Amino acid sequence: MNPDTSPSGAHPIVRLEKVNKHFGSLHVLKDIDLEVTPGEVVVIIGASGSGKSTLIRCINGLEEFQQGHLEVDGSPLLPYGKATKALQRIRTEVGMVFQQFNLFPHLSVLDNVTLAPMKVRGWSRSDATEIAERLLERVGISDQAAKYPTQLSGGQQQRVALARALAMEPRLMLFDEPTSALDPEMIGEVLDAMRELAKEGMTMMIVTHEMGFAREVADRVIYIHKGEIAEEGPPETIFDSPKEAPTRNFLARVL
Ligand code: ADP
Ligand code: MG
Repeated sequence: MNPDTSPSGAHPIVRLEKVNKHFGSLHVLKDIDLEVTPGEVVVIIGASGSGKSTLIRCINGLEEFQQGHLEVDGSPLLPYGKATKALQRIRTEVGMVFQQFNLFPHLSVLDNVTLAPMKVRGWSRSDATEIAERLLERVGISDQAAKYPTQLSGGQQQRVALARALAMEPRLMLFDEPTSALDPEMIGEVLDAMRELAKEGMTMMIVTHEMGFAREVADRVIYIHKGEIAEEGPPETIFDSPKEAPTRNFLARVL
């Protein structure tokens, strides 16, 4: 078998081989081996402090790692965060949605969405606006385009953040607890938008504590325990018959 291809035959869009990450003396990611194939939805679960955010942040170069191999869409990210053309390319191809929406407060909703395509991709304002309007429609907030982030609910702001990431036409979307900062009544609208995206075939890696959602959308669930992938598999297996004791203990606490 060609080592560059996954079992399904498609080239992986994300590939980590023995990735290790330290914060000083703290060993946060330990020999992470992971491949994500195009169109796959991978949900990452685990206790607070287990390394989920760090893993996601390494994949788009927001955190450096020290050992191992990490590549996104064929472009390698080098250890110690060494700046390369590949890093720039990865940042334009990977969309990220954070727990805190991180919208630009001084820009309207529409301008939040058009900014990066104009600046980074060099699109004209009219092209960027056309795409932005379509995306705002898709996430159900086209009527909010002229407002500013603070005039929106948390659920609406997070949907703007999603539209803003999608405007760059990413090949991969990373989500780090996208609903954890939301009031309960707004969680559903954000999960619905993510569900749609999954259905359309977007490759997604999602850190979440929403186990019902994970079960429904995930092709694969990864359980991280103290910086290691302790167990992974299809959602039915992980949620209904986990093999490892740490996975069972974690699920007993959260389910
Ligand atoms: P999770 O997202 O699973 O809650 P994190 O990836 O945020 O976990 O954190 C993993 C570990 O790394 C934790 O022990 C955390 O305290 C530590 N950590 C995270 N970010 C930093 C940082 N910038 N500097 C030092 N330690 C950090
Ligand atoms: Mg986290």
